[in-house]
Amino acid sequence: MTPVAAELADDVLDRFLRYARIDTQSAAGVDASPSTEKQLDLSRLLRDELEEIGLEDVRLDEYGYVYGSLPGVESAPAIGLIAHVDTSPDVTGTDVKPQVHEGYSGGVIELPGDPSVVLDPEELPLLKKKLGHDIVTTDGTTLLGADDKAGVAEIMAAVAYLKRNPDLEHAPIRVSFTVDEEVAGGAEHLDLERFGAKYAYTLDGSELGEIEAETFNASKVTITIRGRSTHPGTAKGQLVNAVKLAADLIAALPRDGRSPETTEERQGFVHPTKLSGGAEEATIEFIVRDHDVAQMQEHVALLRRLADDVKEREPRASVEVREEEQYRNMGEVIEQHPEVIEAAEEAIRRIGVEPVHSIIRGGTDGARLSQRGLPTPNLFTGGSEYHSRREWASVQDMAAAAAMIVELAQVWAERTA
Ligand SMILES: [Zn+2]
Repeated sequence: MTPVAAELADDVLDRFLRYARIDTQSAAGVDASPSTEKQLDLSRLLRDELEEIGLEDVRLDEYGYVYGSLPGVESAPAIGLIAHVDTSPDVTGTDVKPQVHEGYSGGVIELPGDPSVVLDPEELPLLKKKLGHDIVTTDGTTLLGADDKAGVAEIMAAVAYLKRNPDLEHAPIRVSFTVDEEVAGGAEHLDLERFGAKYAYTLDGSELGEIEAETFNASKVTITIRGRSTHPGTAKGQLVNAVKLAADLIAALPRDGRSPETTEERQGFVHPTKLSGGAEEATIEFIVRDHDVAQMQEHVALLRRLADDVKEREPRASVEVREEEQYRNMGEVIEQHPEVIEAAEEAIRRIGVEPVHSIIRGGTDGARLSQRGLPTPNLFTGGSEYHSRREWASVQDMAAAAAMIVELAQVWAERTA
């Protein structure tokens, strides 16, 4: 650990444990921001703590987003630091009881609230690498919320450190804590103009040293099949059953590829997520994902061909295919600003770690923000096994992430001074 990381470790852990105990689970399908009132319990606390630390322009807006800014070297670009307060709807976040296991010795970690939930290093290769670390887990009955309260705690500890050490030359810092990343994503309500950052980073990654600058391209495709419903007693030669046509289409999907269960790394997929309807009308919803735009279009074309096949076999049916873009691979935008990645690499090296580039098989708030003109790669936080009761985080790695932020703020000041 660098001296800065060692100095920050207690503060990061203390903040993380406090934030993790606050239930901030978001909810899907709610047309409001935030989707749940309880997220504001943490947003309000963060606003108050940013004010105590002494940041400027601290505010909690009508969407539940918290903002604050820390002035720095005037010639340097303002750098955004972003993390989300909500936790996944997949696993309960009520009554989280974080457990700190000091000096991990390499064995199976048992959790007091549920003997069936254990952290076995044989199943968790990342955990195996954390010998001697202090590991934070749940009691086995909830998620931990290191996604993304580790990121929140690291940003808070880092800006507090910069404020305490006014002699350090650093770039102007803009902080934003967002809501509903797990259910909507995209930080859609982030007011870029008022935020005023030239570049930004989400602190929402995982393993020590990781920089993520590539996401999937993502679309949602809805196929609606309309048949012809009649009374089954007098249906001969009349009935066209939309349920059966939908089943045919699903059965025609590739079996040995192009699905989440058969792909990894940069391989994309088409994934039916919902089937609903009846004999008259059936709807299949797909998500389509690929890092490559051309491949992505090819996946959508495949679905259109399968829809055409249905129509060809049963001309009395009507089949409609609708594509909605969800987000685009941020790699294309970030490539045009290599300095964003170079600065992060330099900051990671300064905490004594070799940067690792990995790709995201998913999206981040940074994907949409990059598309909107704010290049925003994702950086590690030290948490792991997100959205599960086995979620854990290393105290040493969280401290390293906070120290990386402190270095990053200085790297940007040096580069432009
Ligand atoms: Zn997250």
